[in-house]
Amino acid sequence: MLKAILLDLDGTLLGNSMEVFVPAYLEALGGFLSNHVPPRRLVNELLNATRIMAANDGAGPTNEEVFASAFYPAVGRERAQLEPVIRRFYAEEFPKLRPLTRPVPEAPRLVEWAFGRGLQVAVATNPLFPRTAIEQRLEWAGVGVQEFPYALVTTYEAMHACKPHPAYYAEIFSLLGRAPEECLMAGDDWGADILPSTRLGCRAWWVANPAVRPPATLPRLMGQGRLSALLDRLLAAESGPY
Ligand SMILES: [Mg+2]
Repeated sequence: MLKAILLDLDGTLLGNSMEVFVPAYLEALGGFLSNHVPPRRLVNELLNATRIMAANDGAGPTNEEVFASAFYPAVGRERAQLEPVIRRFYAEEFPKLRPLTRPVPEAPRLVEWAFGRGLQVAVATNPLFPRTAIEQRLEWAGVGVQEFPYALVTTYEAMHACKPHPAYYAEIFSLLGRAPEECLMAGDDWGADILPSTRLGCRAWWVANPAVRPPATLPRLMGQGRLSALLDRLLAAESGPY
């Protein structure tokens, strides 16, 4: 019986191409911090610290702490000195990236349906970003945390592993208090969203063009297509097993 739904954010709830968004984000952040760290050095060290954080395996500190231990020494700045500036970046500059994204019309309908059904809803976005950057993107997607009391939003402050590490999904199931078999993960990234979640026993919906052949046959893969197709499937299954 379906008890919880896990929703990826970028490319799933929100139209957001990482090839466009990430360079613009890095340029904006580099510019904003240029009085403290030369932009090129900042971007290089940010990417390096992000790689180290992405390897976090769930056994130790939070992603935020792993990032901080790698990043601040590498740029030669005190965390206490730079963190308030970064917070200001997220308050003042990050909102300006919104035009690079576009809402997915059916995202609010799917989230509303899930809450209406009494499911736990988790935003299962790769926890490389602070909470504010994720909450702002949810707002842009029309599914903000003011409107929807999510059971979990996987921020870098909260989580101890990243996609595609299975520990990331194991932590979600544990925080929700659910067996993987009671959950459904919807996401657009085969390697990060579909493979690791289904390996743990979760069912999955691949947000991909139905004409694209899945890289593998997975018994736990429920289907593929837009979120509207997933919603249609869930509505059709309401009277039976999902
Ligand atoms: Mg995605």
